[in-house]
Amino acid sequence: MSIRTFEEPGLAAALSTQDIYRELLLRIGEDPTREGLAETPERVEKAMAFLTQGYNMDVATVLNGALFEVDYDEMVMVKDVEFYSMCEHHMLPFFGKVHVAYVPNGRVIGLSKIPRLVEMFSRRLQVQERMTTQIADAIAEAIAPQGVGVIVEAQHLCMMMRGVEKQHSATVTSAMRGVFKTQTQTRNEFLSLVRRGGGDS
Ligand code: ZN
Repeated sequence: MSIRTFEEPGLAAALSTQDIYRELLLRIGEDPTREGLAETPERVEKAMAFLTQGYNMDVATVLNGALFEVDYDEMVMVKDVEFYSMCEHHMLPFFGKVHVAYVPNGRVIGLSKIPRLVEMFSRRLQVQERMTTQIADAIAEAIAPQGVGVIVEAQHLCMMMRGVEKQHSATVTSAMRGVFKTQTQTRNEFLSLVRRGGGDS
């Protein structure tokens, strides 16, 4: 059995990304030359590059030194961070909100960097559970806080469009580290802050 790699001529070398999308259109029964579709491979290539740009980002660059020493040990929370990702099983969107909280241990992260971290991990092919733990682990590694909690609420188009799930049910995942795991009071404070004025549900 031979293993194909992207370096191998015949796949990537012979076909441009746009050729691949043109071929895809053909195979689903479309006419890639008709007016509405003529520019589609080019647009899809650009859209996919944008939606997967998280692969080209890393935590150090995203945080870019925005870590500060502070004398503060109360919970820091960034709530309702919108995200759009794509599931790695169907390459269809899943999207929703991320809630992040941590209890510092002498260092904090610039607040605007939390949404950037979410962006970095969501703009890839993902599973919701892994995205949740990656965000928590990145914060834990960056500032070694007393604890960190991440909750992700999402709707998955691969389930909704195929009728696998009721239209408005959300999938909720969480990752709790440090005091968010060991102290019920801290975890409950986080959960009640997330629920407060949560909107839809
Ligand atoms: Zn899926």
